[in-house]
Amino acid sequence: MKKITVLAGDGIGPEIMASAIAVLQATASNYEQNFQFNNQLFGGAGIEASGRALPEATLQACYDADAILLGAIGGAIGSPWEKAKQTPEQGLLALRKALNLFANIRPICVPDALLPLSPVKEAIVKGTDFIVVRELTSGIYFGEPRQLQETKAYDTCRYTETEIARIAHKAFQLAQTRRKKVTSVDKANVLATSKLWRKVVTDVAKDYPDCTLEHQLVDSCAMRIVQQPTDFDVIVTENLFGDILSDEASVLPGTLGVLPSASHSENGVSLYEPIHGSAPDIAGKNCANPASMILSAALMLRQSFQEEKMAQSIEDAVFAVMNEGVVTPDLGGNAKTDEFTAAVIKKMQS
Ligand code: ATP
Ligand code: MG
Repeated sequence: MKKITVLAGDGIGPEIMASAIAVLQATASNYEQNFQFNNQLFGGAGIEASGRALPEATLQACYDADAILLGAIGGAIGSPWEKAKQTPEQGLLALRKALNLFANIRPICVPDALLPLSPVKEAIVKGTDFIVVRELTSGIYFGEPRQLQETKAYDTCRYTETEIARIAHKAFQLAQTRRKKVTSVDKANVLATSKLWRKVVTDVAKDYPDCTLEHQLVDSCAMRIVQQPTDFDVIVTENLFGDILSDEASVLPGTLGVLPSASHSENGVSLYEPIHGSAPDIAGKNCANPASMILSAALMLRQSFQEEKMAQSIEDAVFAVMNEGVVTPDLGGNAKTDEFTAAVIKKMQS
């Protein structure tokens, strides 16, 4: 029995979460797996109920879980939640911090059904399947001192050997389950933190003789992501570079609606969520693409529960249904959220 804490959240969160749970429930019996879903208030939904985006009971349920599924949080600009003691976004940051989620993982996959939508030429983007592993809790976003003055400002980029080694291990462990290639991205020709990064990643690589390691400067990596995206298997990089490169990579499939993510700590519970926000413009209309949430649930099966076959069957079904033309409006189709979900479940059972 796996305990899953479910944070459906706001906007389209509850709709796409319902899809993911329906898919998990439909497939569980095929694999003799049992899930216990524990729904908790989070984000705007938490604020409305208790004044807090991350209520104490929610946090406790996250600590107690085997894995966490998160839909999306936040409202449209001007939402009354913005004036709450703790905004939805602050709740998410507090949750990430409490769980020490230092490794952010974003798979970027372009199934054939999405080739016409990609802004990159089909011949280049066809077959794209890589993962960006971003360090999430250190680097220039957290380094002290930092100061903004009238006519000058500065930030501090800081990394320790321990912080670099633990994210590098995550990247190599992932690569071992895939095509065994790691691209470490830095700016080692200029930055001291990048020189340390390159040295530590090179050392960690010695523990993974079955994997190959290449180093690439961030500027040329940014070009290569759109020129030769099929070159990559696992990209590992520091916080700032990962923020930028993962957003760049996320345009390859042509919609946010198909992109899942995972966030891991050293040994604690992991959190799985779509990379997009709560999409208030389409909330409540049964037209959101639930693939991002369904694929996040598949990632959970693979990375937290080692249910590789189950994960694969869900991913295969999602992409097969899309390839057959059952797609939501973000992909130019007219399938409703629940119709797409039903088609995925039917495909898994066929
Ligand atoms: P946040 O700041 O929370 O990341 P955002 O302002 O970046 O939010 P999103 O909520 O990610 O915005 O939405 C960006 C656009 O993509 C919106 O037009 C939204 O409707 C669309 N979109 C996002 N997710 C989906 C989805 N699952 N299905 C269809 N369209 C989506
Ligand atoms: Mg956004």
